[in-house]
Amino acid sequence: MFLYGKTFVGPGILRRMARVYSPSRIAAYENCPLKFKYRYVDKKPAMRATIEAFLGRRVHEALEKLYRDRQFEKTPEVDDLVDFYHRQWEKEMDDSICVVKDGYSPDNYRKMGEKYIRQYYRSYEPFDEGATIALEQRVRFPLGDGFSIMGYIDRLADNDGTYEVHDYKTSLTLPTVDDLSRDRQLALYALAVRHMYDDADDVELVWHYVAFDKELRVRKSDEELQAVKQETLQAVRDIETAIRQGDFEARESGLCPYCEYQPLCPLFKHKYQVDELPAEDAREEDGRALVNRYAELKNKIAELEQLKDDVKERLVRYAESNDARYVYGSDRIANVKVYHNPWFPNQDDPEREAFESLLREQGLFDDYTRLDTFALSKAFQKNQLPDDAAKKLEPYVTTRTVERIYLRQRDRD
Ligand code: SF4
Repeated sequence: MFLYGKTFVGPGILRRMARVYSPSRIAAYENCPLKFKYRYVDKKPAMRATIEAFLGRRVHEALEKLYRDRQFEKTPEVDDLVDFYHRQWEKEMDDSICVVKDGYSPDNYRKMGEKYIRQYYRSYEPFDEGATIALEQRVRFPLGDGFSIMGYIDRLADNDGTYEVHDYKTSLTLPTVDDLSRDRQLALYALAVRHMYDDADDVELVWHYVAFDKELRVRKSDEELQAVKQETLQAVRDIETAIRQGDFEARESGLCPYCEYQPLCPLFKHKYQVDELPAEDAREEDGRALVNRYAELKNKIAELEQLKDDVKERLVRYAESNDARYVYGSDRIANVKVYHNPWFPNQDDPEREAFESLLREQGLFDDYTRLDTFALSKAFQKNQLPDDAAKKLEPYVTTRTVERIYLRQRDRD
């Protein structure tokens, strides 16, 4: 849940300047700017939900209930808690929840959740470690430049004067403490707790990886927390720049199979469109037929290129062994020339630096090195040039359209 300011910037595309950011919102941009746009700029409803996220929510609900009951001096039996979990599962489950991993059904995930709750219960009973201050606590603090960070802490506890930020994770990957030392989310929550509570000098971050029945703890120094704050502020500024420029690239990654906007994404929408067609129409569909033909031709060309290289090699050997410079075919004559040219170190050659210094020393550098317009164009496109230089270069820029098609195996869908 996120709050937005009311400033409207520029015509056309909706550009509400977001003043309040959450760690998950920032992470969404970093993982895929296009998904960020769908969710937070266009505010498109999710087109599907993954069973992993569904399972996470149900386990969170059960653990919240456990500690909520404890606040009222009631300790639910583990079977009651598991019953609650199953009831919530049935109530919330619908057809939009998809299972991405082949070979597993929602029921497998349901059993996983039950196991996590039972494990947690066994490990923490009688649940008297730290006094719960708040559950699903909304926290907020000023980040700088008029931005705020907001989020929800699963459980905030007081353990002998130390504030503990507890977070439940149902991930099937167990990070190391070192990985978690670089985690932004809980570090920001620690800053929020320090901002909200005067006596919160000491804050400990506690992750519960419930699939492994493991608890991981990290404390952050003032310097580390300030570094996280600065790095987060820079991340927010980058996002604001992207919003102003309408620059949201699709960033393909291992997260794509779990993306709720896959049916909209230009990387995957064609697959969804074709999958919806009857089998016969799908085979004939224009895009599919063109890709098939293109792949077929590319294969043939590759085979022919290979054949051509083999024949060329044999022809050169033939000319050499016959001491012939011209070799006569039926309609064509092959003029076989073999050159032995001098060659200086390329850009990636370890000797290149010394070589360039020598050229400069000899006054040859300017005459024999060419401006790399490709690298310059890239730097210009990515806003990597100093502002002043970029402005002065602008009159020289034209747009060149480059069309490329890369083929790959479909099993990477
Ligand atoms: S499917 Fe992948 S690339 Fe497309 S929007 Fe989602 S995360 Fe981004």
